[in-house]
Amino acid sequence: MSEEDILCSFCGRTKSQTKILIAGLDAHICDICISQADLILKDDETSKESVDFSIDLKPPKEIKNFLDMHVIGQDEAKKTLAVAVYNHYKRINQKHVADDIEIQKSNLLLVGPTGTGKTLLAQTISKFLNVPIAIVDATVLTEAGYVGEDVESILSKLLQAADFDVDKAENGIVFIDEIDKIARKSDNPSITRDVSGEGVQQALLKLLEGTSVNVPPKGGRKHPDQKFIEINTSNILFIAGGAFDGIDKIIKTRLNLQSIGFKSADEKVVDDNEESVLKFVNPHDIRSYGLIPEIIGRLPVMCHLNPLSKDALRDIMTLPKNALVKQYEKLFEMDDIDFSITPGAIDFIVDKAFEFKIGARGLRTLCEAILNDAMFNLPSSDEKELKVTKIYADQKLQNIDISHLKAVS
Ligand code: ADP
Repeated sequence: MSEEDILCSFCGRTKSQTKILIAGLDAHICDICISQADLILKDDETSKESVDFSIDLKPPKEIKNFLDMHVIGQDEAKKTLAVAVYNHYKRINQKHVADDIEIQKSNLLLVGPTGTGKTLLAQTISKFLNVPIAIVDATVLTEAGYVGEDVESILSKLLQAADFDVDKAENGIVFIDEIDKIARKSDNPSITRDVSGEGVQQALLKLLEGTSVNVPPKGGRKHPDQKFIEINTSNILFIAGGAFDGIDKIIKTRLNLQSIGFKSADEKVVDDNEESVLKFVNPHDIRSYGLIPEIIGRLPVMCHLNPLSKDALRDIMTLPKNALVKQYEKLFEMDDIDFSITPGAIDFIVDKAFEFKIGARGLRTLCEAILNDAMFNLPSSDEKELKVTKIYADQKLQNIDISHLKAVS
């Protein structure tokens, strides 16, 4: 057979029309067909669900160490979160391996008073993993078609946080704040629809479990002319947080009932302090509070956060990487001003935060109130030093309306 008689079995080109013709068992393929086949393969790979995203995952201890640098106290919550996050991303990486054991999602429910660090924990985890995070307030969500935001708007926010990189968004974190506020309003099914309570819980179910959703990239309502981006939520880590005000009563009732049933009265497990009660929170209590069992089932990891003590508030002022005092030092330093604050002044601010019941969130408000005059005047004066003492702080606070501060919480 002459060279000209050998043809590419795919396109029919002769050997002279190709750079190379590779022989198989009883067929040939030319370089042009190989390139085309390669393109088809690559195209097919990118159109499949992406499996290439991988996170440089550190063990739970390292995750907790990072959390320790940013969040004061809440040791139990940090440990639970570190393990859940570790398992979650292990589960994602496991998808690369053909195996019939499927690890379930480790979505979390954080239960604790407002201003104790629930959002901060979620934000810090996203920083550690370098994945996008969307923080949404459950109270603005309503069932599709009602006034308010559709549940899918959560994913638009995540997509925006991921700079519209679908791959990143699909491996990101969603923090749903105030989940307790969408508790079922009452056990009696009423005639009026519960569009912002149970309706939203129902709508959230699919997202939490893992589903593909067409998301309007810029958020807002879906409408027919809009382009959609498909987001799969299977690998998104959902963290829900809520204060569950009054849940201590539910827990106490449950525990006391148990103690009557199984223990003598003087062996009661609980004392009357809310903080010590919260650590006994379990899925039954959350259900009694009004979250539907399906939602609770999809938030399988639960942990509680403690109310912050004065010591914790003091540490929050000075210790974390972005501690308030460090931030003010930096702000003043930019104007060449040497800022310092005495321990007495810090104690004073902490006491006020306690007195006004404004917690950690209020520390900043107090500092702003105390430092506002200095931040206004010093940049255009020759003063190059600011030392905040208890007397200075007290004087500045006397000039402002305390009732306005109280309203901050
Ligand atoms: P929550 O979500 O529990 O209502 P946040 O996490 O939003 O509370 O906390 C509000 C602010 O208070 C945070 O931005 C942070 O500055 C401060 N804060 C609260 N708890 C802590 C904590 N445990 N450690 C450090 N800062 C905290």
